Amino acid sequence: MRKILKYIKDFFTSEKIEVNSTLERLKEGNLYFTSYMLHAAPVSNIEKVREMAALGQDPHAVIVTCSDARISPERIFNAEMGDFFIIRTAGHVVGPYEMGSIEYAVTHSSVDVVIVMGHENCGAVKSCIIDHEGTDLGYIHNILEEVQPSIDKARQETNNDYDLLERAEELNVYHTVAKIKQSKILEPYINSGKLIVIGAKYGIATGEVTFFDDTITCPVVYNKKID
Ligand SMILES: [Zn+2]
Repeated sequence: MRKILKYIKDFFTSEKIEVNSTLERLKEGNLYFTSYMLHAAPVSNIEKVREMAALGQDPHAVIVTCSDARISPERIFNAEMGDFFIIRTAGHVVGPYEMGSIEYAVTHSSVDVVIVMGHENCGAVKSCIIDHEGTDLGYIHNILEEVQPSIDKARQETNNDYDLLERAEELNVYHTVAKIKQSKILEPYINSGKLIVIGAKYGIATGEVTFFDDTITCPVVYNKKID
């Protein structure tokens, strides 16, 4: 326990952040969160808040995740305000505004990890499985259009509804990762090893974040350009 507390104390305070070490710290932070969920540390530290107000922000990780209200990235990784640059949309879909935000964070701060974090029972993914024939979906339509290729691919793999949702959620994460990796601005950072873009899934009930194998190529074929 003391060792973990010491680790957490030093969590985001070391001078030099190596590639991968940010990711390792996030994994440790999530371990702490799942072990001591009821006693999670506050996400704001007044001295740090004042320092950031004076000196500006310098996040270490970009978190691209769903807008679902049950997800709180700082809490999940036992981090603080100022640690993450966060992009949130229903189903963590990314388009021009989100891509620009990620590119800005990587080129203007110490970010060396971009995590695309899906989650269990994602309403955006579930919604794609439901028949919306005859319903005016407004802009929700744009979100479903982004998620649909992951549903289609998952349907090719399974007929079971539960497995379909789980697999589609996973594929939707791979899809967003692949899209982010298309960025010409991020390309040199990724190729030189300065930046990792990795998928993950958050367990709503357990608080646990499972990281994906970042060597797997996105199984979803999706040719739509980011426009
Ligand atoms: Zn969701």
